[in-house]
Amino acid sequence: MSTLLLKNADVLVTMDATRREIAGGGLFIRDGVIELVGTTPDLPAEADEVIDMAGHVLLPGLINTHHHMYQSLTRAIPAAQDAELFDWLSALYPIWAGLTPEMIRVSTLTAMAELILSGCTTSSDHLYIYPNGCRLDDSIEAAQQIGMRFTASRGSMSVGQSQGGLPPDRVVEQEADILRDTRRLIEQYHDASRHSMLQIAVAPCSPFSVSRDLMRESAQLARSYGVRLHTHLAENFKDIAYSREQFGMTPAEYAESLGWTGHDVWHAHCVQLDEAGIALFARTGTGVAHCPCSNMRLASGIAPVPAMRKAGVPVGLGVDGSASNDGAHMLGEARQAMLLARVGFGPAALSARDALEIATLGGARVLGRDDIGALAPGMSADCVAFKLDDVAMAGGAVHDAVAALVFCASLRVNWSIINGRVVVRDGHLGTLDLPAVLQRHNALARSLANAAH
Ligand SMILES: [Zn+2]
Repeated sequence: MSTLLLKNADVLVTMDATRREIAGGGLFIRDGVIELVGTTPDLPAEADEVIDMAGHVLLPGLINTHHHMYQSLTRAIPAAQDAELFDWLSALYPIWAGLTPEMIRVSTLTAMAELILSGCTTSSDHLYIYPNGCRLDDSIEAAQQIGMRFTASRGSMSVGQSQGGLPPDRVVEQEADILRDTRRLIEQYHDASRHSMLQIAVAPCSPFSVSRDLMRESAQLARSYGVRLHTHLAENFKDIAYSREQFGMTPAEYAESLGWTGHDVWHAHCVQLDEAGIALFARTGTGVAHCPCSNMRLASGIAPVPAMRKAGVPVGLGVDGSASNDGAHMLGEARQAMLLARVGFGPAALSARDALEIATLGGARVLGRDDIGALAPGMSADCVAFKLDDVAMAGGAVHDAVAALVFCASLRVNWSIINGRVVVRDGHLGTLDLPAVLQRHNALARSLANAAH
């Protein structure tokens, strides 16, 4: 048995059922689970470890619902800097064909370190390219090493250029191999229990890189194990045109026809989801991973997030892959979600607290978790603290510290606790030798790009 007391936070943001914000608040944690939430005098005075959070805002750890962490190796690649989605992919596929298992592991560590330092405690990752012996196990090993709560999505591509798909033939897999490996991963790793640190999702890459059969069979496979389904959908206008041309349907209709709607499904982007699609998603509880930076970077458009939320669609936040959002900052992503919604739909479209809600409770719902996203008794002890005396918060924190977290320039986290374990202590990531990892990561990034020439 071990206990941890966090006390004296200037503001504790609970995200509980009544969205309480507690001045002078704290948490009492036992064995990785929150036991008590309240003002500091209401909590026990002692614990195995006591951390004074004076000068901080304490909030639930942010939840990232969409990423491709291996892409940290290919940020800002010149040929892909100024392209939209399909041309961007076509520039990068030949480089990604050189990925190795070590590159997957080291880039995942790097991406997770960046996420954790930005306030994220749970992430999904969507790995859909498996050249040269790469496996999803390489990502899983990284998550376990750094101590991040993880939904590992077994992605896949099976329709290469010779069959009308977008990826080159040499990076696609046989569908039987994909399904066999997916089954293996679920049986080996998927932990459905409360406070689980590792879950597996089934995630063919996109309608333009896998067949109808694989989409259907993936849905059946996922449901036979009770795991979740994930893919990319309705990302931009070309994506819509491809769907109409190839399938004679909108992406939402196509998803529905294949069994890809329901409370156990979440789709990335949905920038071009139409009114009927929003109604379908709301009716079926189908989730959306909103990725505002990536949507701006690739000029994909503005996702109708306010309309989705109004209709009751579960919406979480995602940074998307590191090559289409070259800065994976979860608090920054919440800020961009707020700003982009205003560009599209007016100044009252999304408040700072709405953005934080999407990044916490929204993400938990999209990943099918009822044990994270809020600080309340019985929830997993995943929380982060940001320092209010940073220059970026000057003059903001004094008026509304919670809103200032989103309105002001995005901070690095000062404390991060994941599953009751202190992972970032006073600004220092303690589970990894980060400078050594970055040095190796950058050497691998260079050799990957050079090998493609
Ligand atoms: Zn993506």
